[in-house]
Amino acid sequence: MKVSACAVCGGPSTSVIALPQLPLTGLYLRPGHSAPATTAADQELLLCDGCGHAQLGRALPPEILYAGDYTFRTAASHCAQSGTAFFTDFLERVAPGRRFRHAVDIGCNDLHLLRQIGGRVGARTGIDPVWADAPPPVEPGVVVLGATVEAVDLTALEGGPVDLVLCRHTLEHVPDPRAVIRQALDAVAADGLLVFEVPGFDRLLGRLRFDQIFHHHLQYFSRASLFRLLAECGGEYVASVEHPQHWGAILIAFRRASGESPAAPSAPVVTRAGVLARYAQFRRLAEATGELLTAATLPVAGYGAAQLLPNLAYHLGGLGAMEVVLDDDESKDGWRYANLPLTVRHPSNVPGWRDGTVVITALDNATPILRRLLGDQPRDTLLPLSYI
Ligand SMILES: [Zn+2]
Repeated sequence: MKVSACAVCGGPSTSVIALPQLPLTGLYLRPGHSAPATTAADQELLLCDGCGHAQLGRALPPEILYAGDYTFRTAASHCAQSGTAFFTDFLERVAPGRRFRHAVDIGCNDLHLLRQIGGRVGARTGIDPVWADAPPPVEPGVVVLGATVEAVDLTALEGGPVDLVLCRHTLEHVPDPRAVIRQALDAVAADGLLVFEVPGFDRLLGRLRFDQIFHHHLQYFSRASLFRLLAECGGEYVASVEHPQHWGAILIAFRRASGESPAAPSAPVVTRAGVLARYAQFRRLAEATGELLTAATLPVAGYGAAQLLPNLAYHLGGLGAMEVVLDDDESKDGWRYANLPLTVRHPSNVPGWRDGTVVITALDNATPILRRLLGDQPRDTLLPLSYI
């Protein structure tokens, strides 16, 4: 599906970065499995010059996006777990000690967040299309609906009127985020609270993480474009905070407009010139890293079997002589990437991996990996793109 209208303000959204044959991410192959037919597709980043919202030019069909063994689960990821803790801390700061009657989590994944807030909520409902064709996890007191939120009537849920709507890292996957926010605002009780979290485009630009632009994330919210979207949907700003280490995420609390709250704080609108300048810097860093990789001492191993690694390889112009990506998760040993000539191995199965160059390949987990490598002392350690 080709996109041309801004998902926030409805104005024209036009190409700012072309991404021809951008690889699909998250396509891991277990031993014996073969690659799906499509492992890359033309893509582009669009920008609205009116409100500064960025979005993908094409939404790939789900059967292509989720063709591999796409198995992301929050509780299994330390990074996502600490992100959830940051989110529940923010909820406590916005609504200290408050008990809610009925919480809905849009994009509930493995119910990790709903489990964390169990003590302060009466009824709990989780909604996620990942449970449309699979048995959902069983959690006492939680009703799970395997559907998209657009297909659910939030005013007719078993748990009664909703006074807390949570939505973490879901809105960026949705082609029409405005419809989801309107739907949530329409359904929530007059005294209800909504707390959403999305990856932040401001930080993506600031830290030159253009490898975080991938086919699954259709929307790239800056603080300015997110605040504007909420206001246009009839939401009233309550509070927001940034989580700099976790996708530069923007957390925002809001409620139905009552006219009592001040407007959202002002935030800089992302400009086309700004995006292009940062992208040019990113290209220079990526090319320099690619050159270091080509000249690296052998053997070359990656560390961290990240979902986004195909994107990083795309921007670096390949991964040099790398054939193995080390990962501490033993259950991934022997997995391959559908679109990279790489096998995932547990370090204990690769003797001599410290003798050459180790490249940090999971940039969102760079800190714990670096901590480990500082102890293991490989001959050379290479951190692509340099920000930690
Ligand atoms: Zn716009």
